[in-house]
Amino acid sequence: NLTDRLESVFKKLRGQGVLTEENIQEAMHDVRTALLEADVNLGVVRDFVSKVTAKAVGQDVLDSLSPGQQVIKVVHDELVRLLGSEAQPLKLNGPQPVVIMMAGLQGSGKTTTSAKLARLLKGRERRPLLVPADVYRPAAIEQLHVLGEQIGVPVFPSAAEQNPVDIARAAVASAREKGQDTVILDTAGRLHIDQELMAELKAIAGAVSPAEVLFVADAMTGQDAVTVAGAFNTELPLTGVVLTKMEGDARGGAALSIKSVTGKPIKFVGMGEAMDALDVFHPDRVASRILGMGDVLSLIEKAEAVVDQKKAEKLAKKIQKNTFSLDDFLDQIQQIKRMGSLEQIMGMIPGINKLKQLQNAPKPDAKQLARTEAIIKSMTMKERNNHRIIDASRRQRIAKGSGTTVAEVNQVLKSFAMMLKMMRQMKEKGILAGAKHRKV
Ligand code: GDP
Ligand code: MG
Repeated sequence: NLTDRLESVFKKLRGQGVLTEENIQEAMHDVRTALLEADVNLGVVRDFVSKVTAKAVGQDVLDSLSPGQQVIKVVHDELVRLLGSEAQPLKLNGPQPVVIMMAGLQGSGKTTTSAKLARLLKGRERRPLLVPADVYRPAAIEQLHVLGEQIGVPVFPSAAEQNPVDIARAAVASAREKGQDTVILDTAGRLHIDQELMAELKAIAGAVSPAEVLFVADAMTGQDAVTVAGAFNTELPLTGVVLTKMEGDARGGAALSIKSVTGKPIKFVGMGEAMDALDVFHPDRVASRILGMGDVLSLIEKAEAVVDQKKAEKLAKKIQKNTFSLDDFLDQIQQIKRMGSLEQIMGMIPGINKLKQLQNAPKPDAKQLARTEAIIKSMTMKERNNHRIIDASRRQRIAKGSGTTVAEVNQVLKSFAMMLKMMRQMKEKGILAGAKHRKV
């Protein structure tokens, strides 16, 4: 797999300081192969490789990762970024009924996904209405009725003789009347892109102003799906993508290509024919899949732990030398915000978890953390390095600058002083002795 291959490329590099252009380029050859094997579009691959190379060159090699692992981390992070970083929720807050319109080729999974979505929304206390607007295939309307019955969601009684635009309009009016808050429009597809179909879809979208126009693509069709996605994106105001049959595509390359070509977020993935087989899209999972390794997430965690570990060691040193400042405190707060808890960070300092005070400490809440952060940020560097100089008038200025009160500034300074006291106690009890040398 890719990890093993990169390991061998970087074997000779182990122990050296930074990643260089040459050794990265060597590794990128393998990354390129892996992406192409995952069926990622060639143009997208080229773009990607040059971006990642630029990012990786000059990076410090982290102690506990091999250079190969580290390049993988860079590649993985960039993949996640390109795939959209965070899962994108549906925009359902507009005026009701909110319309979700499906678009895509025949067989891509529009009808199935319509029903899956309806089921999902019903579970979130919404009242969806399923609307069959595929009047060309005789069985299409019936198919949605069967699925609707199965999941207990009403299906609009469309007739095959009707025009799809009229169906859409009538369905929205009916939903409004019955208090159904979400209209899911299942439209017709063709085997290939054609102008007539596009014109029809445009007319429907024009008539009912959907909040979401979801392009549904079959992940198994790989490169073809990418071309089709491009065409739909030019013609229709797409707001997102659903990739179906992802459970059958071990490679996951279509996701990256389609996201790159359309610029639209992938919102869901279909993982099977069953009604519950619809997952919110997770960029990190797909990135791992593209890179062909299941262990990449634990690797990333390890890399991040290393960074935090280094910070923790620095912190231990500062405590030893009595140089812990408000600026370090600010750094702690930012870490807490990222990692979720003070215990996690403090837990990285060996021996510290024996401390009773810490175990019983109240969990900091996000608002309070943000306030503390703002307060410290409103201090000058001089003040951060020597809290003793912060007198009454400075406290007033800091409160003003951070949009807080003097009482709150006092509170921050008080907890900081308490922290210093705790640290001194730790030192006296010898809890931190030998801490510096332990490795993860
Ligand atoms: P439409 O023509 O776009 O409406 O596509 P359909 O919803 O009728 O789906 C076509 C076929 O793909 C059906 O047999 C579905 O059961 C199947 N299908 C849809 N989504 C998925 C999925 O996520 N995984 C699998 N394995 N099959 C799916
Ligand atoms: Mg259909």
